Amino acid sequence: MELIPDLGRVQKGSPLTWESRERGATITVPENGVMHCWQCGEELWVLRNWAGTDFECPHCHATVTVPAQVFSAPPAARSTQPTQASASRKSPAAGAVLNFLFWGAGYVFAGRGWGWAILVPYILLTMVGLPALAEMSAEQVLVWTIIGLPIDILLAWHAYQMIKEDQSARA
Ligand SMILES: [Zn+2]
Repeated sequence: MELIPDLGRVQKGSPLTWESRERGATITVPENGVMHCWQCGEELWVLRNWAGTDFECPHCHATVTVPAQVFSAPPAARSTQPTQASASRKSPAAGAVLNFLFWGAGYVFAGRGWGWAILVPYILLTMVGLPALAEMSAEQVLVWTIIGLPIDILLAWHAYQMIKEDQSARA
């Protein structure tokens, strides 16, 4: 892999042009992204096809891995750390479905540890209630389902909003 010289001095937002010794020509790359070295914090300009590969920081010589998110994020959020970016990729709909089916699971999915305090009792109660459920008539099962439904929907809606707010807070 060829390292672009003077990475720190490339103008932001402009197409990246450099003299390639490898190819013996001037190369212009319109699609590039900016990230920060994990060790020295210097701004580094990287090429799209570097995503997922390692290169040496020209400032401190640390080995830097280029995250794919550098190229998929909007310009303002390009320096977002990989952990935050992966957290913000969580689907609000998936959180809603999880909370609908298993109370609290959507909160755990959203990264809220206290969601277990809802999920574990819910699972235990469901297991305890299963033998009783088996002896119920179809009408009784229907009544319990209808009683639980508003809570299902409320929890689903709440998890959905929570993950959506997480995403807008990170943007
Ligand atoms: Zn560095």
